[in-house]
Order: sequence, then C-alpha cells, then structure tokens
Amino acid sequence: MLTKQKDDFAKWYNDVVLGADLAEYSPVKGCMIIKPYGYAIWENIQKAMDIEIKKLGASNAYFPLFIPEKFLKKESEHVEGFSPQVAWVTHGGNKKLQERLAIRPTSETIMYDVFKNWIQSYRDLPLKINQWANIVRWEMRPRLFLRTLEFLWQEGHTAHATKEEADEMAESALRMYQGFAQDWLGIYCVPGKKTEAEKFAGALYTLSVEALMKDGKALQMGTSHQLGQNFSKSFGIQFLDEKGRKNYVWQTSWGVSTRMIGGLVMAHGDDKGLILPPKIAPYQIVIIPISQDGLVKNHISKIEKSLKEIRFITDNRIQQTPGWKFNEWELRGVPLRIEIGPKEVKENKITFVLRNNLKRQTIDFKQFNPKKLLDSLQKELLAETKNFTEENTHQVKSYSEFKEIINKKGGFIRTYWCGDSKCEKKIQEETKATIRCIPMRQKNKNGRCIKCGKESKLEVFFAKAY
Ligand SMILES: [Zn+2]
Repeated sequence: MLTKQKDDFAKWYNDVVLGADLAEYSPVKGCMIIKPYGYAIWENIQKAMDIEIKKLGASNAYFPLFIPEKFLKKESEHVEGFSPQVAWVTHGGNKKLQERLAIRPTSETIMYDVFKNWIQSYRDLPLKINQWANIVRWEMRPRLFLRTLEFLWQEGHTAHATKEEADEMAESALRMYQGFAQDWLGIYCVPGKKTEAEKFAGALYTLSVEALMKDGKALQMGTSHQLGQNFSKSFGIQFLDEKGRKNYVWQTSWGVSTRMIGGLVMAHGDDKGLILPPKIAPYQIVIIPISQDGLVKNHISKIEKSLKEIRFITDNRIQQTPGWKFNEWELRGVPLRIEIGPKEVKENKITFVLRNNLKRQTIDFKQFNPKKLLDSLQKELLAETKNFTEENTHQVKSYSEFKEIINKKGGFIRTYWCGDSKCEKKIQEETKATIRCIPMRQKNKNGRCIKCGKESKLEVFFAKAY
C-alpha cells in the first residue's frame, strides 16, 4: 500500500519512486540505481531535449571527469561555492597523486582551460558546447532523484563576443527549459532571476525556472547562468576583434538534471502513484486482456496493429489478475490503459481508462483515436499544474500572514522585497522560505518589503524549496 500524499508527502514520494520501479537505493550511501523504467524516462527526456539544445546552436562534446585542483581554484567565488561538496581523488593506483583531482561538480573549469586555445579570433565566436554527463556533489541529506551524490545532467557552455549576446544566450536557454518543462513534462513553470544569495557561484547572474510541487514546495527545474567575464579573465580566454583588439569573451552555462524526474513524480502523482505525460512515458499505452480467450487475443492483435508510432505494452502475464495489473500500471503512471474482454470482442469495442481521471469508457473500435486521447491528456496535465500554481500563489498583507501561509499552506508567496540580503536571510532563518526568483514579468507597482517595510517596486516569489 502506498502512503497517502496528505499523510506524509515525503514517504509517499519514496513509495512511488521505489514502487513504480524508477530507482532503488545503492550500496553506496547517497547514490541511487536508476532502474530501466526510470532510465527510459531519462532517455526520452534526453532525446527530446538534445534536439532543442542543437536548435540553440550547441554541439555535443565530452570532457574528463577529473579536474585538477588548480583549475577549480582559479575562479575564487566558484571554488568557495563548490568546495564543501567536492569529492577528491588523492591516489592513482597505490601512488599518491602530486596534485589532487576533483571529481567534476560542474565542468566550467575543465572546459574553459581549453576554450582559451579554441578561441583566438572573433571568427571562433560564438562557441557553444553541450555535454551529457554525470556529476558528483557530496550531499549530506540525499533524496532519490532530488539530491544524490552522483546525478546525470546536461551542461551547456558558451562563449560570446559581447555581453548582449551572452545575455541573449542565457535567456534563450531559459526559454528552452521553460518550453521543455511545459510542453514535454506538462509542468507549469515560473521563469525569473535568482538573487545574489541564490545565484551560481561565479556567475554575474542566474536565471531559473521554478515549479510548484503538490506539497506546496518549489523545485528548480533548470538554471541558466550569465557568467560575465569572470571565468574568461581567470582562464585567459581572449579573442581578437575585427579591429585587432584583444577582448575577454562573455560566457554562459546552463543545465538540467535527473532531478526533473523527481519533479515529474511530485508535480503529477496521486495516491495511486505516478502519472506520466504521454510525450516522455516509456509506455504510452498498456493493453490488459481480461481473459485468456483466443478471441480476446485476436481482438488485441488487431488493436496492436492499429497503434502506429505509439509506445505500448501488452501485459500477457498469466499469474496476475487483471485487477492486480490495473493497480500495477496505475502505480507506474502509464497514461492510457486498454481493457479487452469477451464483451469488447463481441461488440467490436474498446474499453479504456485515462490515468489522470481513471474514468472507464467504452467506444466502438473504429472511433478509438489513441493519439487524440494522449494529446489531450498531455495538455490537461499542463493545465492542471498551471491551475494548481495559480491557486497556490498567495498575496500577503503582512509578515505574520506570510509566516502563517508558509507554515500551514505552503505554495508561492508573491510579494515585495527591498533588495537587501539581510531581509532575505532573516526571512529564511525564520520561515525556511527563500526567494525562488525575481519573476521576468514585473508589475512595476509600488509596494513595501514584506520584512522591513521599505518602499520597493521589486516583486519576488518566495517558497520553501527542494
Ligand atoms: Zn527589506
């Protein structure tokens, strides 16, 4: 039995991840094993996103897992931000290394050391490289998919001649992530800018897309950093412009990870388990025979032949009852279930159930249009998360109301902030809520900082976050 969401959301989450066979714990504490069903979701994400990444003009490449310590130390903010989480290799075989090697917590430094050789002139710009890789960050409080010592991701790294081009690149990457989260994962997102306290270590500024999970906590779905010239100055990445002058390049980096799978679970799941958006579901349809009758088999093979370009599975196992199978595939979030028994055979009909509403419907075989059903389910999931986000985005009149909502209901609080990191820090200490982002769309109205009362035009989204 699954834990109910309202009883213990964290336990429900673990039950679903393990029960739906997405992943399991590994013998190495804090790491996880992504099982074939979970990995198939990641593969579908990769396939779709890789196309989007290439549309941005980036090419895939691969860089070493190990980073010499001196590289990490070159950009001071960067090393300070990452050092508490870095895993180090100190020995090669039995021999102590002359210089420790970091296992990449992110690849800026190992990449930019060669970018300085790849970039000589303005003709070499823009340079856009993407890498699909694993990353290691030593997490103290691991959670399956959400925080693990090792995870999978993509990281885009670009270099440009001007600040404006790098700004545009950082924004394009963010728009791509927002589009991907909404169109493919069916998860509504709020795009915005991070505060100084929340930005990437070494960036000029960080952009992110934030989504609200069903427990009212926010999850960062993707980030994009305008790195300015911080790294190009540390690594000496210069180019000759058209007039023969030497300039430092402007850079960006951007990434999403297997965390998004955790987001899928928490944005759509219910008390019966996972609900997968059809576009990335390993199986979009499951067909369940209600009896082992030969005529039922024939009817099913007729249906199978009609399912062109649809990922489906027919569950022919004879040890389990149909009811057991219904529960199993509901837990695993298959978007559409087809049930075929003697009645369907006799009347040339199809009985089906959509995973989000679980209503059983029977229609004529000729009228059955699975593509249309899957398309509308995909859209409904996005509409549901959008409604949920809007319903759970609160306006508050006072700081005491702020605290009450954050503690009791959760969700986003859209309010004003003076811009002072002291107020931000105090709010975090007192409520555990952080500024998730400064939304792109500002109303430009006058308000007052929710903490200190100072006049401000700056609207922000607060939430407790993963
Ligand atoms: Zn303030």
